Amino acid sequence: MALRFYNTLTQQLEVFTPLEGNNVRMYTCGPTVYHYVHIGNLRTFTFQDILRRWLRYRGYQLNHVMNITDVEDKIIRNAMEQGKPINEYTAVYEKAFLEDIETLRLQRPERIVRATEHIPEMASAIQTLTDKGFTYDSDGSVYYRIASFPQYGKLSHISLEGNRAGARVDVDEYEKDDARDFVLWKARRGEEPFWETPLGPGRPGWHIECSVMSMKYLGETLDIHTGGVDLTFPHHENEIAQSEAITGKPFVRYWLHAEHLMVEGQKMSKSLGNFYTLRDLLAQGQQPENIRYLLASVSYRKKLNFTFDGLKAAQTALDRLRNYQLRLDTTKFADGMNESILELTAKARQSFEESLDDDLNTAEALGHIFEFVRVTNTAMDSGEFKTGNVAAVRELFDIFDSIFDVLKPTVQSGAMSDAEIDSLIAERTAAKKTKNFKRADEIRNSLAEAGVILEDTKDGVRWKRK
Ligand code: AMP
Ligand code: ZN
Repeated sequence: MALRFYNTLTQQLEVFTPLEGNNVRMYTCGPTVYHYVHIGNLRTFTFQDILRRWLRYRGYQLNHVMNITDVEDKIIRNAMEQGKPINEYTAVYEKAFLEDIETLRLQRPERIVRATEHIPEMASAIQTLTDKGFTYDSDGSVYYRIASFPQYGKLSHISLEGNRAGARVDVDEYEKDDARDFVLWKARRGEEPFWETPLGPGRPGWHIECSVMSMKYLGETLDIHTGGVDLTFPHHENEIAQSEAITGKPFVRYWLHAEHLMVEGQKMSKSLGNFYTLRDLLAQGQQPENIRYLLASVSYRKKLNFTFDGLKAAQTALDRLRNYQLRLDTTKFADGMNESILELTAKARQSFEESLDDDLNTAEALGHIFEFVRVTNTAMDSGEFKTGNVAAVRELFDIFDSIFDVLKPTVQSGAMSDAEIDSLIAERTAAKKTKNFKRADEIRNSLAEAGVILEDTKDGVRWKRK
């Protein structure tokens, strides 16, 4: 079966093919850098990472653009309160965001672009909208007239009657003809930062940046656009209204939206105050791989409830996979090849691939891996698993980890590297051979202090991090 995604626009599962050959042009709404991102935001970015990796696994070349919203009401308010220029204020959180995505092993998009570096392009796009009759002015601000775009609502599938403006609309509100109209350009106000443009002094509204930056780097029609479900309306609806009014062409072919990370039945959000940043969790001693595993383990279109028990379960799941891998790498299996296990391995791989092809069903893909581990562990116990079976299983695990990327423990700064550990273990083995048990014990103790556990087996020494 071919790769399929659920498209919010058509409300259907659709076979994915890029517009041009093998190249996928993808755009992601990035963070608003007024604070550290929370792990709810990071769930959406983790979904995008799995999507990236799976598209690449399926042989596509990616051109993926993500924006950084670095001018916006909250940024301006906070920067002014702290008496800082906005770029100085946002630099801290942009840097933190890039560090956070690295900690969670999220691949960087090919291009990350800042709103403040595209103001002239935004002004010119607004001018085009005005020339085409989609806007009106009010006190130097420019608004998009929703009534001029009859397809408005086609993404969020909401009827315009009685539709209430969302929170993002409210904060962008000055004087509007219609509550649903949204601001494209805000006239200079008080001490707020502004840019001099042919539209007059002011700053852009939030929505125009994504239309402008996506089309600048990816062309008029994108293959994929992603974000969290809360962006569907009004943000993505407004992006469509802007872009399609400018080009007259379809803006995006596949719209993919990630469901929310929840806390006790409510969306994790900064405004509700029910959030954890990645830094909060790391400070409590949580491992990045466990967090990544938890965020990736539920299919992106299902809500995921965040709990500390969930993190513990992630740790248990990863222990299971790592122990299996250790067993695979260090056991001396009987010679030969068990054909039925070889077949089982090929089937597990196929099922894993089919699950991810099916709209990135990560939960099901993981289920196949764990079932395979259970069955082959039993085969190892009974001696049916043979040396000849190892290579294909390793390959399966390599494929699994090229997508999930959770098996290698994060080396804490100051911790021992794998090479250092291996060399100390070799020294200990040599010390034992020459009956220097004192040195052998010293090495075992210092490894234990560094959180490395040794296990002497008949096949040699196994080790793992605590
Ligand atoms: P923001 O910085 O608020 O624009 O959000 C960045 C991304 O995180 C957007 O794609 C949001 O839709 C997404 N997001 C916000 N809250 C959550 C949540 N609780 N769970 C999943 N994604 C979220
Ligand atoms: Zn956006």
